[in-house]
Amino acid sequence: MALLLSETLALPGGPAPVQWRRSARARRVSLRIDPRAGAVVVTLPPRAARSAGLSLLMSHADWVAERLRALPGAVRFADGTEIPLAGALYRIRHMPAARGGAWISGQEIQVAGDAAFLARRVTDFLRAEAAHRLGELASGKAQAAGLKLRRVSVKDTRSRWGSCAPDGTLSFSWRLVMAPDFVQDYVAAHEVAHLRHMNHGARFWALVAELTPHRAAADAWLHRQGPQLLRIG
Ligand SMILES: [Zn+2]
Repeated sequence: MALLLSETLALPGGPAPVQWRRSARARRVSLRIDPRAGAVVVTLPPRAARSAGLSLLMSHADWVAERLRALPGAVRFADGTEIPLAGALYRIRHMPAARGGAWISGQEIQVAGDAAFLARRVTDFLRAEAAHRLGELASGKAQAAGLKLRRVSVKDTRSRWGSCAPDGTLSFSWRLVMAPDFVQDYVAAHEVAHLRHMNHGARFWALVAELTPHRAAADAWLHRQGPQLLRIG
């Protein structure tokens, strides 16, 4: 498969980066979104004309625009980068002469030590914050529901925000600490409710509703903004 060229086309939904590929194996003209490139890829069979690709693009302009808009931009932990913590933005500030890991000062996350370890220190800091915040939320809710919580751990899971093991251990993605408080509150309530109901039945949702008022808003937030959290750090 050869990369022909990449260009930005003015589609009805807005400008879209388009990459053209010609494939000997392709049977028909097709479109797909390349999340890394942030572009739509048009694949043409050997003898298809570029106009066939263009007309497919035009007839799917809304789909293309929507998918490209939904693609989150990657954010790396670096000096000067703004990242969310509990929904508010903090700027990472490298303090090479300082000692002692990372800490919050005003609207900054200040990071000591060698630049080579900055990203690692920010990650460690956020993981510790996540363990602390989600641990407090979960144990408070477990207590309110009269449930026994064995342990809370944070992981770098990418397929789920939280999980509940049969032994009573709750796990959360550390990236949740970047989401607003009401989202953290809901995910904690959801996993705590699984301590009693290992399913998503009516009684499970009734318990979730007792433990948090934020289910609908948090669900909507995670659906819209959740993927972005996976592209930070
Ligand atoms: Zn669940």
